[in-house]
Amino acid sequence: MQGVRCSSHGIHTATLTPDASDLHGPGDGVRIRTQSASICQTDINLANFGELPFTMGHEFAGVLDDGTPVGIEPIAPCGTCQYCAKNDYHFCERGHAMVIGIGRNGGMAEEVLVPERSIVPLPTGLDVRDACLIEPLAVNLHALDLARLRGDQRVCVVGANMTGFGLLGGAGAVYRGCEVAVEEEAAHALEAAERMGMKSSPEGLYDLVIEGDGSEESIARAAERAAPGGTVLMVAGYYTEFKNFKVLPFMAKELTVIWGTYYGHHSTGRDADSAAMMLAQQPAIADSIITHRFPLEAAPEAFELVRSDTPSLKVVLEP
Ligand SMILES: [Zn+2]
Ligand SMILES: [Zn+2]
Repeated sequence: MQGVRCSSHGIHTATLTPDASDLHGPGDGVRIRTQSASICQTDINLANFGELPFTMGHEFAGVLDDGTPVGIEPIAPCGTCQYCAKNDYHFCERGHAMVIGIGRNGGMAEEVLVPERSIVPLPTGLDVRDACLIEPLAVNLHALDLARLRGDQRVCVVGANMTGFGLLGGAGAVYRGCEVAVEEEAAHALEAAERMGMKSSPEGLYDLVIEGDGSEESIARAAERAAPGGTVLMVAGYYTEFKNFKVLPFMAKELTVIWGTYYGHHSTGRDADSAAMMLAQQPAIADSIITHRFPLEAAPEAFELVRSDTPSLKVVLEP
């Protein structure tokens, strides 16, 4: 079978043998035949490290052996550590080694073995070709919960271009009844934002600012956009050491900074199930965010597109 790997020469599609050693015991794995796998900012950052000892892809969906289409919450927590015992399984002591496509073989492949617990049933109305968005949307919904977002708050997304990640947070805030604006220069990202019910020209200051770019410059703009006493929600990937991080506006306005990285379980269920429901009810999200689809063999071109200046948001591989 074919799968996407990263070697010292970059991204390529390789012939692989399905690897049962990824599973932790007999009977706890199911085979998923991947139908959609999207490229994340994290995949680009991982590929910059060079050779990776696993198949890539943590945002994916597929079909079971009996043909049932399913989404995936791509983590394999131990189930027994102190965090798993409290159902805070996203803090499992296995750490990033438990993340499918980041610490173990992922879904940018014709097939992948996942623990049964990772399966997310697809609600009516959500196509498996779009269900790769469950994971990035779940990260954003989890982050909005951490920020204790209320429907009467004004929200601004700053930096919406890189894979459209922050726009998913904006879409989550629209879904919860908030007025949401986007500060971004890329016209295609603004157009997508408008289609999802956001305004393309921010005015004034905002209770919650979602930082979706990851650069120092974007963080500074996010702090500027935040109202005194407001919150900056950091949902992008932050992999570089900042040299000129401007602390002053955070201090002067007594801003709260919240980091959103994972997804997990809350009182009403899993973030991944909430994300699947929202995508089913709001088809405009997938229609607006997914800009390109490539066959699996074209993974190098697909990664190149995300890195390039050519306009794109979510780029999806279809094995
Ligand atoms: Zn991701
Ligand atoms: Zn654990």
